[in-house]
Amino acid sequence: MLTTPDFTEITPTADILATRHGSRAKCLQRLARLDLPVPLSVALSFDTVRQIAKGKIPNMAALLGVFGEGALVSVRSSSQAADWGGPGTILNVGMNDAVASRLAKLHGPDAADALYLSFIKAYAVDVLRLDADVFEGPITPRLAKTYFEDEMEEPFPQDPAVQLTEVLRSMARAWEGTTARLLRQAQGAPADAGLGLVVQQMALGIGQGASGSGVVQFVSVDRGAPQITGRFLPQGQGRAALNEQDAQFIESDARGPALEDICPEQVEALRKAAALMRTRLREEMQIEFTLMNGELFILDAVRSTRSARAEVAIAVALAEDGVISREEAMTRIPPFTLNQLLHRQVDARAARDVLTRGIAAAPGAASGKIVFTAEAAQSAASQGEACILVRRETSPEDIRGMHAAHAILTERGGMTSHAAVIARGLGLPCVSGATQLQLNARKKTLTVPGRKVFHEGDVITVDGSSGEVLAGVAAMIEPALGGAFAKLMDWADAARDIGIRANADTVEDATMAQRFGVDGIGLCRTEHMFFDPIRLTVMREMIFAEEPGDRTAALDRLLPMQRDDFTELFELMQGQPVCIRLFDPPLHEFLPNERDGIRAMAEAMDMPVSRVASRIESLQEFNPMLGMRGVRLGITVPEIYDMQARAIFEATIAASEGGAPVVPEIMIPLVSAKREVELVKARVDAVASAVRAESGKAFDYRLGVMVETPRAALRAGEIAESCAFLSFGTNDLTQMTYGLSRDDAGRFMSTYVQQGVFPEDPFQRLDTEGVGELLHLGAERGRAARPGLILSICGEHGGHPDSIAFSRKAGFDYVSCSPYRVPVAKLAAAQLAVQDRAPASTAECRAGDDELP
Ligand code: PEP
Ligand code: MG
Repeated sequence: MLTTPDFTEITPTADILATRHGSRAKCLQRLARLDLPVPLSVALSFDTVRQIAKGKIPNMAALLGVFGEGALVSVRSSSQAADWGGPGTILNVGMNDAVASRLAKLHGPDAADALYLSFIKAYAVDVLRLDADVFEGPITPRLAKTYFEDEMEEPFPQDPAVQLTEVLRSMARAWEGTTARLLRQAQGAPADAGLGLVVQQMALGIGQGASGSGVVQFVSVDRGAPQITGRFLPQGQGRAALNEQDAQFIESDARGPALEDICPEQVEALRKAAALMRTRLREEMQIEFTLMNGELFILDAVRSTRSARAEVAIAVALAEDGVISREEAMTRIPPFTLNQLLHRQVDARAARDVLTRGIAAAPGAASGKIVFTAEAAQSAASQGEACILVRRETSPEDIRGMHAAHAILTERGGMTSHAAVIARGLGLPCVSGATQLQLNARKKTLTVPGRKVFHEGDVITVDGSSGEVLAGVAAMIEPALGGAFAKLMDWADAARDIGIRANADTVEDATMAQRFGVDGIGLCRTEHMFFDPIRLTVMREMIFAEEPGDRTAALDRLLPMQRDDFTELFELMQGQPVCIRLFDPPLHEFLPNERDGIRAMAEAMDMPVSRVASRIESLQEFNPMLGMRGVRLGITVPEIYDMQARAIFEATIAASEGGAPVVPEIMIPLVSAKREVELVKARVDAVASAVRAESGKAFDYRLGVMVETPRAALRAGEIAESCAFLSFGTNDLTQMTYGLSRDDAGRFMSTYVQQGVFPEDPFQRLDTEGVGELLHLGAERGRAARPGLILSICGEHGGHPDSIAFSRKAGFDYVSCSPYRVPVAKLAAAQLAVQDRAPASTAECRAGDDELP
């Protein structure tokens, strides 16, 4: 057995470590320990490969000596984690004139020539980086050697030691290349990640008896269900079987010849090998194998290829069969994988005609006809037509059109723009910030540079998972919410130790949240309830009222509608907490800004157009997001919050009758001073007393503050004296901490991230340093003043695994996120809890790398 500081023969007892020799070398050792027929293999450590890259070549004679005179070998890369990549395998190293003539005698000249030619090409193109076209066309090995000599000005090397040296050197250097480095770092590899190499005796795959090579796995790629998937190429080598037209099936198949028809025992041996790997390596493996005159060799095994859906199915099945624990099944699935199960996706195998790209703002995909207005979206929906709402950016008045659309596409905006937030809440695919688009709302055209002009009615596909916009209809894969997914969610619920609520504004949102099994509603944004055409008119009357009496009359008409909204929500949530945010946006968002809208409004309100226009004008603000909105509006026009509080309390009484008792939570938005809370609290308390007195019914409620301004976080101590909970609205808090508009940041965010100004888009991933410091300060000061204070995050960050980790550490009670983010949040929360409980078991290597029991 060869063991030198540079090489280690892979035997069951050799000192092979994934952290020193890479996961492929370690896996081969595990296969050897299972007594599987692995050809003789030698591992080169990360250190050895680093030395090779620097030009220090180890003793080739000693290495080749292991395989014997005239042997052919393959060289495979072995990085520490399989998804960190590595240069491709080189086969048949050692091939030269002498070996070719020996093989010609054994297997015939054609087979020998084919092997020799393929090695010369691989050596020239993949190792020495000569142009591939030099070797194109039907050429013989002799001609290929001549071309090689012309290019290199030296003969094709006959010495196996020279060939192997060059192969090792080229693979070692390829690993150091910038692209390879960036690719693996994107997969989480550290900057100093090493590459191991495995030199393995060739099992040729040619011979008189049954010979060839194949790749097989025992679960389907798309669903992860038990199913033999793979191909076998008679007289072939490597993974070629997967791409060759004339490759055979593995298992007997009505569609054509199969390996099982001629080699049933070998296929049975493969089945047994896979079953053994499944229980002992605790993973579904894909096997690369060769037959030489009927003899089976297993050259390599890697985690089987799988879709997101298959990933979940496989992990759950392994846990149900007792192969792994439930905790491990949960930790094996990257949380964001679940997004692909919840929504329709563009079939990865489908052709994609990409028109443009934007921000992947809400996952899933949909095809439909282009519409440019919310009204057109509603009229398409009423005719049963799928449509894509295309807007420069959306605003609350588009909400009904957004409900009607199958996907949203906006030219402007980022991850927390109105379009993105609402689309995620509705479970609609959304691409925002597609800045290359030129939209002409008047002409109703959409121009994509270099492509035809698109008109209303033309069909496009929005892929909110990739951020791509495609021409025409794309083939889709349907979501999968039952079976393995549902089980995984049950296990996550049992494991997690932080609450997960949903942001839900409507009964539809809340129903979806219930379907995902939430702990309550963490944020109900009430403003969306006013965009129904009837309510909008009343709302506008309220806004235009010049006398308090007129305003009260309008609000009295809105009251029963609000009460019905809340009653429905409370009844649906069956006693679970529901946190209702009082009215937040500036009033002008409810007013039309186009001529037609103003005229229609004048008609509905029986007013001259000029008066309507000047009233709208008087409500305009230079910077409405920092203007009269949230609690500022609540204090200036207190009747609005009075009406909402009354609607909430009356709904509480109605929903508690015969149902689970409801304790509503009322949240005040955009607070920056303690006095704001005191003023609102006094009025809400007064409304509660009045409703109790009128109805003779008792009820409780909790008043809380939404921490969205830096000042509210800093003054959380005194603010908490008047409230029961603080919920951090990290969308606005991020906007205000950075002084960065959440609606405009998309224009330069990618440049900022590319140039490393921000490590990530802070609207997408919580800035745990800056904004996080405010969260910490707010939480500490709030809890110091009021120990039982309930703390949460309800901004879009709430569902992100990073924010959940942050919230758990900071002792928050729950996070709240869009309904469709709930599964990701639950799984992430469960993983964190599992990690904390058993740190050792979560240092688990990726599946397939696990130590044998
Ligand atoms: C927030 O600001 O974080 C928030 C949840 O409120 P909105 O997104 O409605 O401004
Ligand atoms: Mg906000």
